[in-house]
Amino acid sequence: MAEQHAEGCLFCGIATGAIPSTRVYEDEKVIGFRDINPGAPTHVLIIPRTHIAGINTPEAEDSAILSALVHAAKQIAQREGIAESGYRLVWNVGPDAGQSVFHLHLHLLGGRKLAWPPG
Ligand code: 5GP
Ligand code: ZN
Repeated sequence: MAEQHAEGCLFCGIATGAIPSTRVYEDEKVIGFRDINPGAPTHVLIIPRTHIAGINTPEAEDSAILSALVHAAKQIAQREGIAESGYRLVWNVGPDAGQSVFHLHLHLLGGRKLAWPPG
């Protein structure tokens, strides 16, 4: 895995701290911060510290990062008090899903009843 940041990438900027965010979680591999335009009372984005464009692009050796993202989501859900009431983990991949930032991010949404299927 390339230990690097991508030039001009918003979430690389958030990962390094160059761009401010409200962090709710961090460990060696990933950070979690509140979405600037929340879609639910809890809406946290969990990202790798290093640049991966999206869920289509991780290499086999990035599997530890993928599990770290999910592990972080579980911990954040506990801290936010929504582990029992329920929450949703979302990967938006590509145009039909509306992916707008091309640095891998896992959405954690909860704190209200979430409709299914999503729009
Ligand atoms: P996507 O649509 O790519 O799955 O999700 C990108 C998310 O990033 C959106 O929910 C959007 O509100 C959030 N976002 C975009 N720019 C910023 C920012 O500068 N700071 C934070 N905290 N979230 C952002
Ligand atoms: Zn990036």
